[in-house]
Amino acid sequence: MAELLDGRLLAKDVEDRLQQVVAAGLERAGRPPGLAVLRVGDDPASGVYVANKEKASARVGIASHGAHLPAGSSAATVLAEIQRLNADPAVDGILLQLPLPAGLAEGPLLNAIDPGKDADGLHPCNLGRLLKGEPGPRSCTPAGVMALLARARVPLEGARAVVVGRSILVGQPMALMLQAANATVTVAHSRSRDLAALCREADVLVVAAGRPRLIGAEHVKPGAVVVDVGIHRLPPSAADGPSGRGGLCGDVRFEEVEPLVAAITPVPGGVGPMTVTMLLVNTVASWRAAFAPPVAGAGGEPAAADPLADLLP
Ligand code: NAP
Repeated sequence: MAELLDGRLLAKDVEDRLQQVVAAGLERAGRPPGLAVLRVGDDPASGVYVANKEKASARVGIASHGAHLPAGSSAATVLAEIQRLNADPAVDGILLQLPLPAGLAEGPLLNAIDPGKDADGLHPCNLGRLLKGEPGPRSCTPAGVMALLARARVPLEGARAVVVGRSILVGQPMALMLQAANATVTVAHSRSRDLAALCREADVLVVAAGRPRLIGAEHVKPGAVVVDVGIHRLPPSAADGPSGRGGLCGDVRFEEVEPLVAAITPVPGGVGPMTVTMLLVNTVASWRAAFAPPVAGAGGEPAAADPLADLLP
C-alpha cells in the first residue's frame, strides 16, 4: 500500500511553526504580519478560496487586509488598490485572487505588485530569482509540493522527475524547483508524444494538467512517487442526494495508481492545503525580513534553529 503524502498534516505542522515565529517576532516588529488578498468581482469559488486564506492567516496570527472590488472595476481602479497596498507598511504579502472578471488582463496587474510583497511568488522578478537560484518568495503550489516530498524524504538527487503541465502557475516553476534539487526533469504538455511512456520513466511524477483523471496505471512505473496537483469538482450524481454538490477528483485515477506506487498525494488533502500554507510562509518570511535578520545567535551562542529553514530557498 502506498504512503499517503498528507498535505493537511504537514500544513498543520507548518502552521504551528509559523505561529511560533510570529509570536517570537511580534514585540520586535510592533505589529503582526499582514496579508492582503485582493478580490475583484464575485466568482463564487474565489469567495471560498479567499475565506480559507483569511481563516488560515488568522490561525497563525497574520492580519488580513483584504479588499473586495466590484466586478465592473476598471484596470486603473485595481491598479490603484495594488499601489495602495504596496505602500501600506502593515502589509507584507499581496495576492491578487484569480480569475479576474472578463476584460481585466491579469499580467499587468500581477506585475504591479511589489516583488517583495509577492505572496504568490508569481512576479516575473521572483520567477527570475527561482530560475537563478536566488532567494525570494517561491510560487506556492510547487513550493508546497517540494515541502511534501521533503517531509516524506523522497530522494530527488539524480532521480528522474516528470512534470505534466507547463503553466507559469505550476508546471514551469515545479520543474525548476525539482531541477534545483538535482532531479533530472522532463516537462510534458498537451503536444507531447506518448505521454504514458514518458511518465513511466519517472521516479517522481508531478501531474498538473488540469484534466480530470488523465493519469492511470499505464502512466506509472511501479514504486514511483506521484503528486496530483489537479483539482476538479465532479458533477453531482444520484448518490450525492438532493443537496449533493458532487465530489472532488484530481488529474490522477487514484484507485488505479495507488496500489502500484510507493507514495501518492490524495485529492483533496494533498497539495491543496500546502498551497495555502506556503502563502502564509511567504508572508511571514517577508514580515520577518522587514524588521530583523533571520534567527541568529548572539555573543558566541549557537544560532537557534530557524523553524522555517526547510521551507525557504
Ligand atoms: P493550466 O494553465 O490549464 O495548464 C495545464 C497544463 O497541462 C498545460 O501546460 C497543458 O499543455 C498541459 N496539458 C493539458 N492537457 C494535457 C494532456 N492531455 N497531456 C499532457 N499535458 C496536458 O493549468 P494550471 O493552472 O497549471 O493547473 C493545473 C491543475 O492544477 C488544475 O486542475 C488546477 O485546478 C490545479 N491547481 C491546483 C492547485 C492546488 O492548490 N491544489 C493550485 C493550482 C492549480 P499546453 O501548455 O500544451 O496547453
